[in-house]
Amino acid sequence: MKICSICNQTYVDDNLNYCLNDGGTLTSYNDDAPPTVMFERARTTQQNWENPQTPNLWGNQPLQQHQAQSPAPPNQPFYPGQLQGQNQTLPTVGLALGIFSLLFACCYGGIPFGAAALIVGFLSMKNINDNPVEFGGRGLAIGGIVTGLIGLLFSLGLFLLVIISG
Ligand SMILES: [Zn+2]
Repeated sequence: MKICSICNQTYVDDNLNYCLNDGGTLTSYNDDAPPTVMFERARTTQQNWENPQTPNLWGNQPLQQHQAQSPAPPNQPFYPGQLQGQNQTLPTVGLALGIFSLLFACCYGGIPFGAAALIVGFLSMKNINDNPVEFGGRGLAIGGIVTGLIGLLFSLGLFLLVIISG
């Protein structure tokens, strides 16, 4: 639609460039009503598209989360069972090494066994202190350190006696 700049006559034919009445130049005259209607329709259609989707998304996600979390609770009771059975392998090895250091203290075996028992025992204590839930056997670790220390000192004493006496 075009409008005359002189007489404000409107012309539906957009191909006209000059007014038929006075020959004035025609300028494009856009009615504001259609675009606003188009925008309003676009907004309403967007709302119509979003509204049905958002309830479906919010309705489906909790169901999927519940389905994903449902296998988890049966696994959780296993953790307390693992807590009761603490890892005591390292302190057990340390105590065994300490006992070996005592058994072989007579023939200098207390030096390597005792040193190993001390290292393993202190590593066990470190594990127990860092993660007391997972690692146990504090008494075993202390026993390994004590027996390893006795075996180590006894073997070192024997070694020094032999050197001094020899
Ligand atoms: Zn005109």
